[in-house]
Amino acid sequence: MSQFVISNKILELSQAVQADISPQFELIDEITLKNTEKVLSAFQKHRVSDTMFAGSTGYGYNDKGRETLDLVFAEIMKTESALVREGFVSGTHAITAMLFATLRPGQTLLSVAGIPYDTLHGVIGITGNYSGSLKDYNISYSQIELLEDGSPDLKAISQAVKSGNVGAVLIQRSRGYSSRRALSVSEIGEICDCVCSSNKNVRIMVDNCYGEFVEIIEPGDVGADILAGSLIKNPGGGIAPTGGYVAGREELVNAAANRLTAPGIGDKCGSEQGGHRLLYQGLFLAPHTVAQALKTAAFAARLFEKLGYKTHPCYNDKRSDIIQMISLLSPDALLRFCEGIQAAAPVDSYVTPIAGDMPGYEHKVVMAAGTFIQGASIELSADAPMREPYNVFLQGGLTYESGKLGVMLAASYLLGN
Ligand SMILES: *Cc1c(COP(=O)(O)O)cnc(C)c1O
Repeated sequence: MSQFVISNKILELSQAVQADISPQFELIDEITLKNTEKVLSAFQKHRVSDTMFAGSTGYGYNDKGRETLDLVFAEIMKTESALVREGFVSGTHAITAMLFATLRPGQTLLSVAGIPYDTLHGVIGITGNYSGSLKDYNISYSQIELLEDGSPDLKAISQAVKSGNVGAVLIQRSRGYSSRRALSVSEIGEICDCVCSSNKNVRIMVDNCYGEFVEIIEPGDVGADILAGSLIKNPGGGIAPTGGYVAGREELVNAAANRLTAPGIGDKCGSEQGGHRLLYQGLFLAPHTVAQALKTAAFAARLFEKLGYKTHPCYNDKRSDIIQMISLLSPDALLRFCEGIQAAAPVDSYVTPIAGDMPGYEHKVVMAAGTFIQGASIELSADAPMREPYNVFLQGGLTYESGKLGVMLAASYLLGN
């Protein structure tokens, strides 16, 4: 007997789905084992000890826990340096520090994977007219679209970085709220090679949000100069209470630290009174947590495909981020799906999600998220801007079991059982 109101049709279909996706589960398990080994090796190399978990106060000078976490993170990301901080209020904040670390007035930012994630539009100056945006600092912007098949347009990229005064390129790994696919780390490597061989002075930045630990290599393995992401997504493992990171070449990470704090202070200050244990523990759990999210995504893709919906990626496509898109085609279907996800949550299951305005987003957004950590999208959540074709973006799931139940309930709500 199911205690959730899941229709018999969905329960039956789910059994077939589970069998269909077992090859994907094997692949995910292999990746998770390798990434867990990578994380453990980094902890061991830098001799992580429980004395590092206590926080600091005031300026936070000589905070061994903070300094060691940066070293561990850089090791995992295969970069010279890293800055992992609760002081980054979000992924957007960390990405902004990366942008300002890398670009100077008079230069151009070139996005090479089409339009960047919504919250970056105001930062860049694509929309809004915010004081302190790149545009406000006389840094201009241009972009190159991805090719029809979703791969990078290397010819156009090479041409663009040879001419003009492109200071840096931005590569967004994840699809974000768009219908394109995620870029694989090897495709990111191709972009790095192309940019490097066309113009050595152009820096390469990666928005790594939602991508960490999905593959066994990261953009730092393939030539990215600097990357950034959010700790309430993949690398926080569902445990980090807030924060973001940048990782990359030392000079650029120092510049990002100067942007986060103050020039000359950089990474030497910043106390975390609550201690650092949750960031360490979250990082330790992250490969496993990401696997739970990937399994949930594969299950959702196969189930909704069987129900006749277009899903992207397909359940058996190679993934480079944790986002699953499902085309629900009507605002009503979108809302019912989100109601189902919300109703299955451990927290706030009794609330009904409605579309509302969100800072940084242009369209109204509906979000289902009954999360322990506010806005954490490594926890099971569904987001959708209210625009055609009413695609829902599903991500997260701290445990596969709760993710699967959430997806089954969403399907039941959608079918109106
Ligand atoms: C989540 C995300 C961001 C940053 O979002 P925050 O909500 O500010 O953490 C940036 N880029 C992509 C692709 C994202 O998925």
